[in-house]
Amino acid sequence: MGSKNFSSSDFRLGILGGGQLGKMLIAEAIKLDVHTRVLDPDPASPCRFLASYFENGDLNDYKSVYRFGRVCDLVTIEIEQVNTLALAQLEEEGIKVCPSASVLSIIQDKYLQKCFYRDHQIPTAPFYYLAAGDLPDLNQLNFPFVQKLCKTGYDGKGVQVLYSPEDLNKMFQDPSIIESFVSDAREISVIVARSASGEVKCFPAVEMVFHPEANLVEYLFCPARITPEEEVQAQQLAIRVIESLDMEGLLAVEMFLTPDGKLLVNESAPRPHNSGHHTIESAYVSQYQQHLRAILDLPLGTTRMKTASVMINLLGEPGYSGKVIYQGIEEVMKMEGVSVHIYGKKETRPYRKMGHVTILSDTVEDARDKADFVKRHLKVIA
Ligand code: ADP
Repeated sequence: MGSKNFSSSDFRLGILGGGQLGKMLIAEAIKLDVHTRVLDPDPASPCRFLASYFENGDLNDYKSVYRFGRVCDLVTIEIEQVNTLALAQLEEEGIKVCPSASVLSIIQDKYLQKCFYRDHQIPTAPFYYLAAGDLPDLNQLNFPFVQKLCKTGYDGKGVQVLYSPEDLNKMFQDPSIIESFVSDAREISVIVARSASGEVKCFPAVEMVFHPEANLVEYLFCPARITPEEEVQAQQLAIRVIESLDMEGLLAVEMFLTPDGKLLVNESAPRPHNSGHHTIESAYVSQYQQHLRAILDLPLGTTRMKTASVMINLLGEPGYSGKVIYQGIEEVMKMEGVSVHIYGKKETRPYRKMGHVTILSDTVEDARDKADFVKRHLKVIA
């Protein structure tokens, strides 16, 4: 495997998952004339018309993942919850899987992921394991603390903060971790790429601002409003994580920056990430192109930015479910530097990620003002 074996359209890239991340990855694969094969349980998923070949199937079923992967030259993912036993078998048979089955097994389970950080001296908030149905040990961590389901959580679902004894009755009953609450922290993400040749490159840190109710990223600023020293430290930490995982491909490392300037790794995602969408317009090389370069062992691209940016997710408006309408799209498309991405999900639901908008400007402050205009005028309703 590697660039010497890369021969454009003969190369079959398998992508597990057919959502928006897969869609944007395919857009870059098309530039390299790579043949893409996508597996997704939803026949109406965003990748359905874009992939060279689209298959309907269960990503957690051993047989469907194994059969799908066997005819690929390389298998990658756009969602972590996939059958890793099938991926391990494909690796055994000589098919390259990026990220590897072993990396995915660690990432899929928040407890294993946190243990990995602890065992590799990667700073992370204190935590302990809580078995299904157990009550938390208040001697270990007192209120407020965070409970996170080990397995089923995504986009803030399966994560909750417990503030007082009255909250104990809403605790999740499945296996989870209890983590200390990191107060007043800013949240940043560093996307780092690593190839088989050992080349490593980081995109500049981005700052994530969360929606208070939905627990989803509301704004994403690049550059992050941090000091140059914090930027260097954040990038060094992301490199430590990808090297400790011995991973090839793209890794988004989400971190807390505490008021006293400490960085703590929250969690990592071994794939293109929501916090890197802005790179499509704002960077010389997008995170999707970088992921392809990393897994194909091509030279990594520059991570220089062309301009400052703000990214906002287009979330389904609360109170609306059904066939989607993008109200106000004309108004925002008249604005300079505004790029609208529609993922192609037919039905909207409250807070569902339906698209995103990237706003470019000379300064992050100006981009933010424009982002507020976009948020006021562009609504995802039914
Ligand atoms: P997900 O996998 O669903 O993205 P995360 O572990 O990233 O879950 O948690 C979602 C969000 O919850 C974080 O981005 C952060 O805003 C908040 N959060 C998570 N862990 C903590 C913590 N230990 N202290 C404070 N806030 C937290």
